[in-house]
Amino acid sequence: MTETFNITIIGAGVIGLAIAETLSTKYDGVLVVEKNPSFGQETSSRNSEVIHAGIYYPNEFLKAVFCPEGNQLLYELCKKRNIPHKRLGKIIVATDDEECLALDGIKKHAERNGISDLTFLGRSQLQTLEPEINAKAALFSPSTGIIDSHNLMRSFYIQTESNGAIIALRSEVTAIHIENGTYLVEINGGEYRLHTRVLINSGGLHADRIASLAGIDIDQKDYRLKYCKGNYFFASPAPKLSHLVYPVPPRNTVSLGIHATLDLNNRIKFGPDSRYVREIEYTVDENRKESFYQSIRKYLPGINMQSLQPDMCGIRPKLQGPNEPYRDFVVQDEKEAGYPGLINLIGIESPGLTSCIAIARYVSSLVEPYL
Ligand SMILES: Cc1cc2nc3c(=O)[nH]c(=O)nc-3n(C[C@H](O)[C@H](O)[C@H](O)COP(=O)(O)OP(=O)(O)OC[C@H]3O[C@@H](n4cnc5c(N)ncnc54)[C@H](O)[C@@H]3O)c2cc1C
Repeated sequence: MTETFNITIIGAGVIGLAIAETLSTKYDGVLVVEKNPSFGQETSSRNSEVIHAGIYYPNEFLKAVFCPEGNQLLYELCKKRNIPHKRLGKIIVATDDEECLALDGIKKHAERNGISDLTFLGRSQLQTLEPEINAKAALFSPSTGIIDSHNLMRSFYIQTESNGAIIALRSEVTAIHIENGTYLVEINGGEYRLHTRVLINSGGLHADRIASLAGIDIDQKDYRLKYCKGNYFFASPAPKLSHLVYPVPPRNTVSLGIHATLDLNNRIKFGPDSRYVREIEYTVDENRKESFYQSIRKYLPGINMQSLQPDMCGIRPKLQGPNEPYRDFVVQDEKEAGYPGLINLIGIESPGLTSCIAIARYVSSLVEPYL
């Protein structure tokens, strides 16, 4: 006899774990399956760990809703559970007249997204805040910060288990069938089989493949993921910065530009850049040093190219390919496609970490009709 669960969540990254905690407070019979030997070993531990404010996303996108809501929820949770974080603030710097004009547009756009706390900084205010930065003007976002994402995930993990849910590691979903109105899920090539009423696919870089295992036509639904690598470099000796420093995002690109982020140990890293790749492979491309240097020196003229050292990299699960229009998160109950109770989360790139609790709450609302 195969065991039947109410809810099975595929993937123990920050999204799967946030969902698992939220759902296990409401329902019994919650299972998380993760193919790796531990949680959070993929994109959730290969990112900038920035709690974003939600400035840039197109108005009508889920990203524009989940990010500011998630920002607030994350700060509240960090405070309640003593998860290391810092509300450092972010400075968006304009180095020429065109970028100065763009700052105005960024502020207006943010206001349309409900972000009303951005303020302009003139050259002298900027000099006081960040003496090593050279820019004509800037915008300051006080609600941007950083978080220890591993501790966040650990907190979700512990709470999920103490709510009575099961987290099964080294358990890869290898097949999904529909049987008697439930999903029959095969783990590790049939080593274990289970039934589940609701199946949540938060498989990160593999979420498109998992959707197709269930029978979804991922090309017809436009769910096929493209991998977009982001390299980071650190500087030694490091410049002295006390805020997150971002350039005005370059037009028609898939990233926010090479920015400077601090971690909770005050270590500064630069990046991520963006390059579409075919494979998931985590070597930092050292040849990117020159282009990092050229980008950084525009706002940090004291940076020395020799000081830049390869750090780490992550891969964005993107729905849009090179030069294609920007895409939103997919968070979808597939009932219209004939798969009721299959909830796909696809293309959960940035600001996924910031949005995790808001996404979890939304998923909970999708699950409700089934249980
Ligand atoms: C370079 C970079 C920088 C970023 N910076 C930020 C930032 O500063 N702020 C921010 O808010 N967001 C940021 N993000 C985005 C954020 O990291 C992601 O949105 C988030 O980590 C996605 O979490 P996830 O749980 O969906 O995916 P993952 O962390 O990849 O988790 C998916 C899990 O599913 C498991 N899995 C996959 N297939 C199977 C299977 N068949 N069976 C069982 N398990 C399976 C995987 O092993 C993995 O553990 C960044 C992303 C990148 C790449």
